[in-house]
Amino acid sequence: MNAAILAIGSEMLTPQRIDTNSLFVTDKLNTLGVEVVLKMVVGDDRKRLVQAMRHALSEAGLLIISGGLGPTEDDLTREAVADLTGRELIFRQEVVDWIAERFRRFNRPMAENNKRQGYVLDGAEILPNPNGTAPGQWLTHGGAHILLLPGPPGELKPMVENHCLPRLEKLLPPMVIRTRFYRVAGMGESDLDQLIAPVYKPFENPATTILAAPGDIQIHLRARCETETEAEDLLKKVGDPIAGLLGDRIYSRNGDPLETVAGRMLKERMLTLSVAESCTGGMLAERITSVPGASEYFAGGLLTYTNRAKQDLLGIDMDLIDEHGAVSEVVAKAMALGARERTGSKVALSVTGVAGPSQGEEKEPVGTVFVAIAHGELCTAKRLVYPGDRKRVRTMAVQAALDMLRRKLLT
Ligand code: ATP
Repeated sequence: MNAAILAIGSEMLTPQRIDTNSLFVTDKLNTLGVEVVLKMVVGDDRKRLVQAMRHALSEAGLLIISGGLGPTEDDLTREAVADLTGRELIFRQEVVDWIAERFRRFNRPMAENNKRQGYVLDGAEILPNPNGTAPGQWLTHGGAHILLLPGPPGELKPMVENHCLPRLEKLLPPMVIRTRFYRVAGMGESDLDQLIAPVYKPFENPATTILAAPGDIQIHLRARCETETEAEDLLKKVGDPIAGLLGDRIYSRNGDPLETVAGRMLKERMLTLSVAESCTGGMLAERITSVPGASEYFAGGLLTYTNRAKQDLLGIDMDLIDEHGAVSEVVAKAMALGARERTGSKVALSVTGVAGPSQGEEKEPVGTVFVAIAHGELCTAKRLVYPGDRKRVRTMAVQAALDMLRRKLLT
């Protein structure tokens, strides 16, 4: 079964509001093997709502509508579904009694217009809403299922979980869903897709989704089958070659972020880590310490933004900086060695770069970053050049440093 989601409300079309309901609903539907093929956000306009609903039902057998069930004149979902289906809205006194009882419990008078919420589409099942006044409605019409749910996420979410999913489960043929998950670092989205598309493209099942963030790509494989064995076989058929192609660029198969993976590796090897940061201004240390229990392996970080700080806190010779520039391989290595020496850690990472937007006094162009690692006898550095704005360059630099650490620990 395919689904469409309609988020209703003129406020949802403003820059102040985001339609998060559809993300939640999509996630839940996917766990049942229902694919969302269409999403729309529509303002409080009755004619436009009917048009959108008609289009949605031409694409999907399940239409989930959120919002527009309130008591005010601009809450038009009920009326639009009535227009669409030709069904009458029937006044149900028991719904209004239930709303009135809710107002009594909160010691507040019920406004007259709350009675509008007592209108239910002819033939619809009422879905109770214990967290608000607007009840949901489930209408089966012309072979399609139309669900009307309130907009506030705190009301919609429990209704989806407690009423919609159990009903949907009964309607759907029994199906097993199995997933595989890979997180990849050190590769751009288009390079990755070019590499693995020939493997996954011929298959609709499992469905492959690629989610890209700066320096971090997630690959989700979801197989839907009648039996667990079939689903696992399909995942193996597509997942194993993908994993083979990506090799050690895959850093996580369970969703853990890079800092958790690297932290676990340090702990297993009984190593301690320190960092020296320039252009990332503490972002690297923040990522490392966001993992609970990081104190077991994180010795500390030195935030050496200026040349003076690099000299005073890391003991780097000013002549070295003058000669090579603060953004250079030589200084990146000196920073890692300085951090290790000052903190007594076994391993040290450093980052120095030109995050932009202006180049300042640096010789290197905007977007250039050097990351270095000192481990054992060796201290190695890497020069990277990232396109994009300051935030992106800094995020990519942190990701590159964490991945450098992970790879070093693999060897
Ligand atoms: P009520 O008016 O009784 O609160 P309703 O069903 O009419 O319920 P709306 O008025 O459409 O709901 O929305 C109420 C609030 O819920 C919105 O202002 C917004 O903050 C939130 N909301 C509505 N739709 C969404 C959505 N799709 N995603 C996230 N939040 C939403």
